[in-house]
Amino acid sequence: MASDDPEPIVEVQNVSKLFGTTQGVTDRLLGRDPTPVRAVDGVDLTINEGDIMGIAGESGCGKTTLGKLLVKLHEATHGTIEFDGKDISDLSKTERNEFRQRVQMIFQDPFESLNPRMTVFQSVMEPLKINDIGAGYQDRRDRVKQVLNDVGLAPAEAYLDEFPKELSGGERQRVAIARALIVNPDFIVCDEPVSMLDVSIRAGVLNLMKELQDEYGLTYVFISHDLSLIRYMCDRTAIMYLGNVIEQGPTSEVVMNPKHPYTEALFDAVPEIDPEAERHRANVTGEVPDPRNPPAGCRFHPRCSNIIPPEGWAGSQEAFRRVFQFKSRVLQDDLDPEEATENAASESTDAILERGLALELPEEHSLDAEASRSIDPSVLDLPADAERTLREAAERLLEGDFEAAKAEVEDEFESICERENPAVREAGTQVTACHLYEEEAGEPVAPGVSD
Ligand code: SF4
Repeated sequence: MASDDPEPIVEVQNVSKLFGTTQGVTDRLLGRDPTPVRAVDGVDLTINEGDIMGIAGESGCGKTTLGKLLVKLHEATHGTIEFDGKDISDLSKTERNEFRQRVQMIFQDPFESLNPRMTVFQSVMEPLKINDIGAGYQDRRDRVKQVLNDVGLAPAEAYLDEFPKELSGGERQRVAIARALIVNPDFIVCDEPVSMLDVSIRAGVLNLMKELQDEYGLTYVFISHDLSLIRYMCDRTAIMYLGNVIEQGPTSEVVMNPKHPYTEALFDAVPEIDPEAERHRANVTGEVPDPRNPPAGCRFHPRCSNIIPPEGWAGSQEAFRRVFQFKSRVLQDDLDPEEATENAASESTDAILERGLALELPEEHSLDAEASRSIDPSVLDLPADAERTLREAAERLLEGDFEAAKAEVEDEFESICERENPAVREAGTQVTACHLYEEEAGEPVAPGVSD
């Protein structure tokens, strides 16, 4: 339960985690530098005592890596993480032992996190032994029984001698929760804690976790791609995209009044429970880019529906978004004239324009498959000079001169979004990294400030 006077328990400042920083065999043979994956990149986050903090985003966005950094299963490549005011990369042996007791993690797959050869009693008691807690066997056995009852495995005696394979998925996850709780922690990171469970028992486990939060005085981080879970459980939420936290704030505001275009798209994509309700469309194009080679500027710009036109652009923002996408596809050799014209009566610049200006929405987000394959340029308010440039590029493509086509567009249609990485700024109750908020927000927010 969030307190009225919150004290930070975890402070993350400008933290990055890079994987693949050393040269592999192929790199050595080819004499090239390694290309690391920036799984987490420059993240600032404050988690207050007693909060449930959600970390959400598509798979591969870096949320699990961030969770493992918080519990010291990974070491940060750059930046600092403080737990209760102490830098966790600089702990003495005693402090490290204390940290291992106060900070726990619950994983997605309870079957993998439990040793199949240990009984429930052995599994739950093991952390007591490791942390040297309890006055002998009987005291430890009593503590195990107490915590099993607390997680709803009652009567505890019925479970003590069971092996994981004899339990249901829900019971196994309750054992994993008991293992985390037995050492009386203060902070638990839960990584997709119910995603492997049957839908019918998820709510029961989540409600139990809420009750345990009060009983044990816990602070949680919930990592999930499931936005309904985030909405249900979390006081505050951080949204991640390609290793960056692009928005964070009170969950109700992040859900109901998202500031960042990616957050908006993410929540628009959540299916409505009511089949009669009007379905929203996640208005993002393309797929998540390769984290080894993220886009320059704002990492979301190749997919963003709000990409900002340059000063002096005379058409609509929608027209600019399509023109920008046309340009990107030409530069990436992604606009094949044969494919563009295969359904047309003859090859023509019109056919290339129709194809190149259509928004490439992922199939599951597109309500009209035909509209995402082609669009009549005359329905867009394209400025005449922009249309001329696009036609020149299309003609070069038809001639098979791809380099000349690139030369036509590469210095045109520039957006601040592709040039400059937006700083994190305040926007209402949230903080967000988007150029749309720069003018009204003023100075960037200092690292770690989230309230
Ligand atoms: S900075 Fe530009 S591209 Fe990035 S989210 Fe904001 S409007 Fe979209």
